[in-house]
Amino acid sequence: MALPGCDSTDSSTAKAPSHSGKLVVVATTGMVADMVRQIGGEQVHVEQLMRDGVDPHLYRPNTDDVKAIRAADVVFYNGFKLEGRMSDLLSLKPIGKKKHIALADAIPKESALGDPEHETADPHIWMDVTLWSAATQLIERELKERIPSQSEVFTERASQLRDRLGKLDALGKRWIETIPTHQRILITSHDAFRYFGRRYGLQVEGIQGVSTSSEAGLRRIRELVDMLVEKKIPSVFVESSVPPKSVHSIMEGAAEKKTTVSIGGELYSDAMGPIGSDAETYEGMMKHNFRIITKALGGEPTE
Ligand SMILES: [Zn+2]
Repeated sequence: MALPGCDSTDSSTAKAPSHSGKLVVVATTGMVADMVRQIGGEQVHVEQLMRDGVDPHLYRPNTDDVKAIRAADVVFYNGFKLEGRMSDLLSLKPIGKKKHIALADAIPKESALGDPEHETADPHIWMDVTLWSAATQLIERELKERIPSQSEVFTERASQLRDRLGKLDALGKRWIETIPTHQRILITSHDAFRYFGRRYGLQVEGIQGVSTSSEAGLRRIRELVDMLVEKKIPSVFVESSVPPKSVHSIMEGAAEKKTTVSIGGELYSDAMGPIGSDAETYEGMMKHNFRIITKALGGEPTE
């Protein structure tokens, strides 16, 4: 016999948007989720679809993700087709008051690398802290619209976040500038660091392209090995969300030419670190990257 109130299927669907009265937000990557948590605080329930180590280019939404997206009040995602296999789902026009919001929409067209008109822009916008900081406006505005009574709180948190990001950006610049000029070359598994290179003054060479869905070609590997040997670059980098195979091919290629190249460390490119690590937030992740890159290329990351 069904107890009264236990048959919650219908009522829970009807009430789906409210999670004990909180605004329910779905965020795709950790970086997007972190920004919503920083600004939304306890007023918002955030469901993060992609965990640490997950590659967003290849991520396929499961049935729980689809349900979460349907039940959410707002969905925030990166955009510029970062979430390649979710693009159809995310670009669906939601019904009623629900919205799907791409943070890439906050980036001025002239600041995007690639071609935003044709959606072939480079999606790794969080790698330039100033661009990511600009995206806070979209979340701040949406949360204020949804929960007007908390407007001041959201304004306060968003402006504090932008202050911290401003300091982080300056710190990154300072550290990278300590790397000897001829060694400011960053070789990584895939091309996630082009915004980073532009902002912080490094030549960036990805072994794979802007998406991880294509394999690195032999010719590209040979080209990079020659560059390493010629310019005496001390380190190459692996990424937490991409298998290290192609980086190892580079190191082997260099060894054949009697050049020792070390792994400078693991960078967080398309996903943040696990809970409890130094990269569990966006700010932590970027500071980790600044530190590892600076050290491995011969600079001094002092506070
Ligand atoms: Zn990527």
